[in-house]
Amino acid sequence: MTDHCYLCGAEINDENISKEHIIPNAIGGKLVSIKLLCNNCNIKTGDVIDFALSKTLEPLCNLINVKRDRGTPTSLKITLQSGKKIILRPGFKPEAVPNVEKLNNKFNITARNENEALETLRHLQLKYPSIDVDNAMENLQHQKKYLDEKIPFKLELNDECLRSLGKIIANFYIYRGNDKEKISELIDFIKDDQKIKTLWQYTEDSPFTFNKYGVYNIVSIIGDRNTKKLVGFVEIFSTIKFFIIINNNYDGETFSQNYYYNVETGASDKDIIIKTVKKEKFFTNISRDTYDICLSNYEKSFNELMNYCHKKSNDEARFSIISQSFDECQRRFPPEKYPYFTDEMIEFLSKDVSEKFVSYLYETKQLGQ
Ligand SMILES: [Zn+2]
Repeated sequence: MTDHCYLCGAEINDENISKEHIIPNAIGGKLVSIKLLCNNCNIKTGDVIDFALSKTLEPLCNLINVKRDRGTPTSLKITLQSGKKIILRPGFKPEAVPNVEKLNNKFNITARNENEALETLRHLQLKYPSIDVDNAMENLQHQKKYLDEKIPFKLELNDECLRSLGKIIANFYIYRGNDKEKISELIDFIKDDQKIKTLWQYTEDSPFTFNKYGVYNIVSIIGDRNTKKLVGFVEIFSTIKFFIIINNNYDGETFSQNYYYNVETGASDKDIIIKTVKKEKFFTNISRDTYDICLSNYEKSFNELMNYCHKKSNDEARFSIISQSFDECQRRFPPEKYPYFTDEMIEFLSKDVSEKFVSYLYETKQLGQ
């Protein structure tokens, strides 16, 4: 049987065949199909709606450090509430912004490492030949600063983003062999042929809960015999949830087709277990005549994600403190001279680790508040 592009109807052949990601790869999607879109529509939707979605979600991709086929999430330049600027590298890793300040006849240079400091100094020397680069490098101060402010963050999903989310549902629905005719309104919405929004934000608890907290991408088609509804559901990063009612007069059996995976580990549905599928509550929620977005719920799940990323980066910072102290210990007590762990080494390690911990806890305000 030949396949047709579900957006333009063109027959898919050797000339226009293309790999469509069910969930865009930029937000961590891995599952692909060559039976959904022609090359033309794939490129067009990729450049416009998928691009809009991935651009809007880029800060979240950065925090989670989403794995992609090509390229890692970009670093973000952020101005904190205090006016301080930082760079956030993928995986919630804050860095100082390189800076040159001129105070009277002195320069104050902030650099992220010695190489950067040297480069900046050499650059300045071109303009101010009297600068003694070697002397400055000898007298530079190493400082370790931890982030002690909240990161401001705003998320606005425009119509293009919604179309891209709708496309995830349509992709999965057709990929799983369901009848295209039944989602013609959604397809028109993806094509921007009509302004009628068929996609609604879902801010209640997810119909899917997992055995432990993690960052998941989920897409699902759920049919319910009791409420006669056939629904498409998408959840990105365990936070952004949308649904569409595909059929209000569904007369088939209760069923669900699901695809979900852990965004960080890539573990697929075979490796993770759904604890409860709160389908009944889900159908009650979406069956209301008017669907209200509950902002506090949205914020709650958003904060949960932020806290999770923050905790992960804290754990990493703690781990890095311990491994730094171990490295320092090896430098002071080289293994060739000290083949066994001595009391001296233990004393050094406990002192070094605790000193670093105290300054870390103090700066991140986890102490005394
Ligand atoms: Zn097409």
